[in-house]
Amino acid sequence: MDYSSCTLCPNLCSVDRRKTLGICRQSDKVRIAWSGLHRGEEPPITGEKGSGMIFFTGCPLHCQFCQNRQISGSDGMNLGIEITDEELAGLMLSLQKDGAATLNLVTGTHFIPSIINALKIAESSGFSLPVVWNSSGYESVEALAMIDDYIDIYLLDCKTLSRSTASKWCGKARYADVIIPVMNAIKAWHPVTDMDRMKGTILRHLVFPGELQSTYDFLRLFAERYKDSFYLSLMTQFVPPKGDPGFPKITDEEYDSLVDLMEIYGIDDGFIQDPSDDDILWIPDFTRDVPFPASFADPDPYFLSLKHR
Ligand code: SF4
Repeated sequence: MDYSSCTLCPNLCSVDRRKTLGICRQSDKVRIAWSGLHRGEEPPITGEKGSGMIFFTGCPLHCQFCQNRQISGSDGMNLGIEITDEELAGLMLSLQKDGAATLNLVTGTHFIPSIINALKIAESSGFSLPVVWNSSGYESVEALAMIDDYIDIYLLDCKTLSRSTASKWCGKARYADVIIPVMNAIKAWHPVTDMDRMKGTILRHLVFPGELQSTYDFLRLFAERYKDSFYLSLMTQFVPPKGDPGFPKITDEEYDSLVDLMEIYGIDDGFIQDPSDDDILWIPDFTRDVPFPASFADPDPYFLSLKHR
């Protein structure tokens, strides 16, 4: 599986990315939008100094609510710089030198062959950080199997199990068909999560305001099939499309009902985001060298040298 007839994600475009673009709007050359230490990830991944992030440009999904729309392609900006596989490997080594707790590959699905190549190069030069695959969950099991040997922690979204909710918010009803086989494959490959050993899966679920039934259904399935294998990260940082200030937020009663349900289902391992965190600016600005609040992030010096060359 390579770029010559690309089926790296469930969109199955089958285009030759050396000559044309598919739905992710990326060629066979890696593009990245930001790299550096970030202290806003789940605690085991963040460690003391931060997680070593590499944000890839482009995305196979184009969600209405995407917080990274400047780089994902959701609004056509497509921000990023083109780098070689050797430079990507250099970035991994640089993040390790920065003191990163983990290497955090954000939305790398459409660059899997290049990332594998870069990881091989970096490992031959002493790279040894735990590798986090930070993904929307809209994945091809076959493509994931190619990179699985290199991944220590899956930080995977399960946005919804509902075709209608997926169609409304992710632009693809198919998301709901794809996510369960992906979760099943990862569970089969890594049946146990042990964050002391930095191994396993943290499943992220973002609550869509006004779509609580979707979250209730997800929690029930998580409790039935995955809670003994995965940690759960329940997120409430939904930002409405175009920042609409009149968009309804999750209420205190709704939040309490989710916490109660997790207790009833015996979901103990994981994290739940406090909705009062909504004073934090969650929308990054990738036109800046530090897209996040300064207390959250430090850019990697090697990334800056590539960006401004
Ligand atoms: S990775 Fe891009 S080109 Fe390949 S199948 Fe997915 S959207 Fe299409």
